Amino acid sequence: MIEVKNLVKKYGNHTAVDHLSFRIEAGKIYGFLGPNGAGKSTTMNIMTGYLGATEGEVLIDGHDILKEPEEAKRHIGYLPEQPPLYMDMTVREYLEFAAELKGIQRGKREEAITEVEKMVRISDVEGRLIRNLSKGYRQRVGLAQAVLGFPEMIILDEPTVGLDPKQIIEIRELIRKLSKKHTVILSSHILAEIREVCDYILIISKGRLVASDTPENLEKALGDHTTVEIEAQASPSEIRLILKNVPGIESVEMQPAVDYVTKARIREKKGEDVRERVFRAFASAQTPLLTLKAEGTSLEDVFMQLTQNDTLPKAFAEKIQWEEADQNAGNL
Ligand code: ADP
Ligand code: MG
Repeated sequence: MIEVKNLVKKYGNHTAVDHLSFRIEAGKIYGFLGPNGAGKSTTMNIMTGYLGATEGEVLIDGHDILKEPEEAKRHIGYLPEQPPLYMDMTVREYLEFAAELKGIQRGKREEAITEVEKMVRISDVEGRLIRNLSKGYRQRVGLAQAVLGFPEMIILDEPTVGLDPKQIIEIRELIRKLSKKHTVILSSHILAEIREVCDYILIISKGRLVASDTPENLEKALGDHTTVEIEAQASPSEIRLILKNVPGIESVEMQPAVDYVTKARIREKKGEDVRERVFRAFASAQTPLLTLKAEGTSLEDVFMQLTQNDTLPKAFAEKIQWEEADQNAGNL
């Protein structure tokens, strides 16, 4: 189990991690989700002892990562965002070196390396120099290094960045395979990726934990807003005028008109159903409403909402959003 308590990391006067606390329990796949610059890598570097914190502590199975690094690190394998690969080593040499650093007993190293090579499917390149490997293979070598010795917890920072779709699928399959015996924590700035693989999501924005739950619960808890998508034969500013006095609307996003047809997404206030009102408003303005379609809130919306407006009180954020939609529409 990992316990992160009140973690703070400052770079000069910039706070990259801002009083972060959470627990990682055994046996699940956890996802750190947040936009670039949210503080994911910094947090992972601190959790794994690569970086000191300004405040707070990290306990790995009860061992403080800074005070008892050897004890603590024995339980974790880490694939940093930029894996420290030695370009002039062969894959095998590099993994032997990593096994030694990890304190795997001499007599067990060969077997352990052969096993991880098989698992991440790099056995056929073990004699090649790392510098001559493709990005996908290098990432697998990094993953092999993290998995080597089969620690209880495996921490992967953006493991699929820069890979092609086929390689991404392979890495995801590997992560799933690993999760049968290990706790896996991975980070990504891509929601679809986290949703696809993780049982539990921690959403990080500006160094703070803004939500943490299962994907289903996040959608449920924050998603009782619904969205209505419309297409109308009108300009954005005409639509803005028509919708202005319709009660129950929280915000409106509009796309520029194409052939005098504008698409808009209307976010409803909690518990509201504005479809009939929207229909009537367009009818009384004698403006053709071409489509009108209700949608539930997706995790995408939850993520956008949490990571964009988190510094503003909720009611205030809603108002600003609406005004922005207003102004944008007017400019088009
Ligand atoms: P993420 O991994 O979520 O993209 P990072 O942890 O890399 O975010 O960065 C968090 C914030 O800290 C960013 O604003 C970044 O610019 C800043 N930061 C990261 N590393 C350093 C550093 N070594 N020196 C100064 N600022 C840094
Ligand atoms: Mg990062």
